[in-house]
Amino acid sequence: MSLISSAKAGRTFFIADLHLADERPVATGRFFRFLNEEVAGADALYILGDLFEAWVGDDDDALVAHDVARQLRSLADAGTPVYFMHGNRDFMLAERYSALSGMTLLSDPTRVDLYGVPTLLMHGDTLCTDDTAYQTFRNRVRHPLILALLRHLPLALRRHLAHKARSGSESAKAVKPAAIMDVNVDEVVSVLGKQQAVRLIHGHTHRPAQHVHAVAGHTCERWVVPDWYSHWGYVVCDASGCTLRVQDL
Ligand code: MN
Repeated sequence: MSLISSAKAGRTFFIADLHLADERPVATGRFFRFLNEEVAGADALYILGDLFEAWVGDDDDALVAHDVARQLRSLADAGTPVYFMHGNRDFMLAERYSALSGMTLLSDPTRVDLYGVPTLLMHGDTLCTDDTAYQTFRNRVRHPLILALLRHLPLALRRHLAHKARSGSESAKAVKPAAIMDVNVDEVVSVLGKQQAVRLIHGHTHRPAQHVHAVAGHTCERWVVPDWYSHWGYVVCDASGCTLRVQDL
């Protein structure tokens, strides 16, 4: 093993909410540098949803999708496993694109043993239970029958629907109180207890932070990974614990 890879081994990276798109080349460039400079040689990379600003199907011909697949594939081929969990923007990403990228699809939530610590991974949108309008919308569009129907629509129509859904969500967000769009702490405590995890790592809220929660008499950590709009960053964990890093984009 070379000096470089031995220094990077023993670490696992978590990212989410990059919202990559052809229109945001700075974030994409930063992402590729992050993969090459920080993640290469690490134990694993977990992408916890919303890697892309929008995903209307694996037949999407956006340039960024091709470039990202190539970069992730070379990381995976070099020995760093890449895991992907769906976000609310890219829940239609499927087997074809994940195979192309060398990613393993994970369901939400997934519990992993992270250096001996039972750690729960989520995108985070299901924790925002105060936003009942969003949860109703989510249940509808994620229904297997609706998903199957969507997949059979022509690409141009899927793009149009995704655009409409995004502008609808933007105008709804503009009038929703901020607290409604954050996680509900009772839901966090309930999920951690049910899943028997002592650590939770998620994204979605774009509120990078470390929180502590009391769950059934013991202390649990919750790490919120940053979005990649005006800044970028990640949570990195090793046997001694996790660290949140956020820097200007
Ligand atoms: Mn999200």
